[in-house]
Amino acid sequence: MKIAFFQLDPDQRTYIEKHEKLTKLNPELLFYDALLRSDSVPSETGIDAISIFIGSEVNVSVLKKLPDLKLIAARSTGYDHIDVNACKRRGITVSSVPSYGERTVAEYTFALILMLSRKMYDAYHRIREKGQFNLQELQGFDLYGKTLGVVGTGSIGKHVIHIAKGFGMKVVACDVYPNETMSKELEFRYCSLKELLGKSDIVTLHVPYLTSTHHLINKENIYQMKRGAYLINTSRGQVVETEALVSALKDEHIAGAGLDVLEEEGALKDDLEFLQSTLKAERLHTVLANHALIDHPRVIVTPHNAFNTKEALQRILDVTVQNIIAFASGKPINVVE
Ligand code: NAD
Repeated sequence: MKIAFFQLDPDQRTYIEKHEKLTKLNPELLFYDALLRSDSVPSETGIDAISIFIGSEVNVSVLKKLPDLKLIAARSTGYDHIDVNACKRRGITVSSVPSYGERTVAEYTFALILMLSRKMYDAYHRIREKGQFNLQELQGFDLYGKTLGVVGTGSIGKHVIHIAKGFGMKVVACDVYPNETMSKELEFRYCSLKELLGKSDIVTLHVPYLTSTHHLINKENIYQMKRGAYLINTSRGQVVETEALVSALKDEHIAGAGLDVLEEEGALKDDLEFLQSTLKAERLHTVLANHALIDHPRVIVTPHNAFNTKEALQRILDVTVQNIIAFASGKPINVVE
């Protein structure tokens, strides 16, 4: 089995090379630092399996250049960067890592919330960069007693609710599949998205990116949010219509936002693609709107970093290796439907 790993750091590479169970398969291991994109598909022939991280993109054009591919082992929970339907048509199995970092991302969600509620960045920046030790405009607000609106109560949303309860927050939530047992256990209430937006002081998004969640927060409903509320997004950039957020911030309808993900974040990472302007006008517009968000004084943007802890990355690698071994044994696990 010839397996190509993309975007592994040197420690992760060593871990894979020395993995006892994986070595038993006697695989030929290939490592590429770059993202996998249509213009960076390796010329190596006979690749049976690839393991990619977010940022890489497997579309029809990439698949065409990998004629022997049988397995994609995504090292992520989300798999919207993979054309799963095209893989199905080719009989390629796609596996993912369903739960490596629900607590990790939930903790990060609160890091973003606290950055905004206690103006942590401004406080830090003031002393470090300006040498000023005053409290002017640093007044924040308590989380205790405030209402958190959790959109998507799956693995991550559940832990976010758990932490919110520790802060003494009230929680309302919405989900296409409400979990009534969990709502009783964690003492929160399900309601419609509309009601959630109207009631919450902070709205936090934890849905996967699907056709049905594309621009879930959009020009129409962003103004249903409470005036002065905050929006947190650690899910996927495309869940929020960028221009709607920019305009609600401009009108001061939204007090601030904490964003670990942005629409077209791939294009932001890839300056070359941006400069070559291969993006369609509409996407280019979004990229420019992103720059407005990045520069906005009431917005905290981080580079898709919520998953990024030592422990979570180790769990990702462990499950990825299990996925590859299970596939090789003819009983694939964690297969994306
Ligand atoms: P999950 O599948 O366990 O939970 C998602 C929940 O969203 C499910 O309960 C589902 O029913 C619900 N849902 C789906 N469509 C909905 C809709 N239209 N309205 C309301 N609820 C809806 O997923 P998870 O593990 O909690 O992860 C959520 C997402 O977070 C992932 O899909 C991924 O995109 C993102 N994520 C980001 C990072 C990061 O580093 N920023 C890391 C991991 C995951």
